[in-house]
Amino acid sequence: MCGVFGVYNHPEAAKLAGYGLYGLQHRGQESAGIVSSDGTDLHLFKNMGLVSEVFGGRDFSDLPGDCAIGHVRYSTAGSSNLRNAGPILVRTQHGEVGLSHNGNLVNGTDLRTDLEREGAIFASTTDSEVILHLFARSPHGDAIDALVDSFRRLRGAFTLTMLLRDTLVGLRDPWGFRPLVLGDLDGSPVLSSETCALDLLKARFVREIEPGEMVVFSSEGERRLFPFKTVQQVPCIFEYVYFARPDSTLFGKVVYPVRVAMGRRLAAEQPAEADVVVPVPDSGVGAAIGFSEYSQIPMVWALIRNHYVGRTFIAPRQSIRDLSARLKLNPVPDLLKGKRVVLVDDSLVRGTTSRKIVRLVRDAGAAEVHLRLSSPPIVGPCVYGIDTPERSELLAANMDLETIRAFVGADSLGYLSVEGMHEAAGKDLGSACHACFGGAYPVKWSASGGVQRRLFDKERQ
Ligand code: AMP
Repeated sequence: MCGVFGVYNHPEAAKLAGYGLYGLQHRGQESAGIVSSDGTDLHLFKNMGLVSEVFGGRDFSDLPGDCAIGHVRYSTAGSSNLRNAGPILVRTQHGEVGLSHNGNLVNGTDLRTDLEREGAIFASTTDSEVILHLFARSPHGDAIDALVDSFRRLRGAFTLTMLLRDTLVGLRDPWGFRPLVLGDLDGSPVLSSETCALDLLKARFVREIEPGEMVVFSSEGERRLFPFKTVQQVPCIFEYVYFARPDSTLFGKVVYPVRVAMGRRLAAEQPAEADVVVPVPDSGVGAAIGFSEYSQIPMVWALIRNHYVGRTFIAPRQSIRDLSARLKLNPVPDLLKGKRVVLVDDSLVRGTTSRKIVRLVRDAGAAEVHLRLSSPPIVGPCVYGIDTPERSELLAANMDLETIRAFVGADSLGYLSVEGMHEAAGKDLGSACHACFGGAYPVKWSASGGVQRRLFDKERQ
């Protein structure tokens, strides 16, 4: 769960990267950083915190040059500390190089172990650093050849932006798990995880970088390379369900109407006798609109979200922890009193938040609470870069529907079906990865060897 950004040949490259990262903030809230190049040297600034905390009020004079890459991070491999924050900047035989990575390598730990045996010293615990080691050790004299050589050894999810002295590189893994788009700002190429960051800069959307495509911007212009064998493309469907911003165009489609379609389909599959539809903000809003449209049950804005709450405290005493749900959401009792409520959210992970919200709505006077989820039960961990807990902590992997309903305290519970989710996302996304929803894992992984994951901790948010 990260956002990557890149801009080539613009006099205010770092400042644009800073703005771009604001647009990608939803993809990672732990740290933010930028590497710029002035054509001779690369410059780095990164820190823990939100983009506004890291870059707000800065004049970017310490990030000079016409090219820059940026990164926002929510760690899925490696722990959350500054050494693991992106971008990573190192010096190699090809000169300095900066790297921003979104995704999870399923062979990251294996590669790291091999490299460490050969004497490699790692400065972080991220799988991203492995990529730079492979690049630095490649026997190829040409930097682009060395990059291709290193990319071919990676397996799993890797969307990258990289900066060399005078070259910007963008890459999507051949499976196409995570998005990457190309924009144009008055002739300057811009790379971004999502189009919403292009909109913010008023950059024109040019196209998506294709799965398996490597794009290189240098003084020689734009080069497109396809270094990988063709494999089945498996864009992540959870990007549509929850992760991407609804105003982004992703895998050929705007996210917003997909979320609404999921809500419509949910209403058809899992109807409820109710007086009002209430979205869990912000993640449930799109689906609640669709549910309300289809069911003709009016939607009311009965849960108000406080947008200024950062992460809630880590493991405070239970008495204080119970406040955390109220810190983020407050009900409007007049809209709920005596009402039969359909509460719509996008997904149920561990059920801890949902349980608190159901209680909140009931305590505000709702007569009935019917929880509807616009995605199927999450039964498997994601090993491709979405932060989901181990199977043992996934509610739906361990409980049947009735037990989950009782756990969250709802009067009824309904999930969208896998077919319904795929149909709402559209046929062109037919091969999408839905391993977390019980589908096959499209790139093999083994818990012992390849995958380095960190436990999802809902309380940190
Ligand atoms: P829970 O109460 O643990 O089941 O959490 C459900 C809520 O977490 C839903 O509102 C989702 O929108 C949200 N959610 C789903 N996946 C993630 C994730 N990987 N990271 C953070 N929040 C998530």
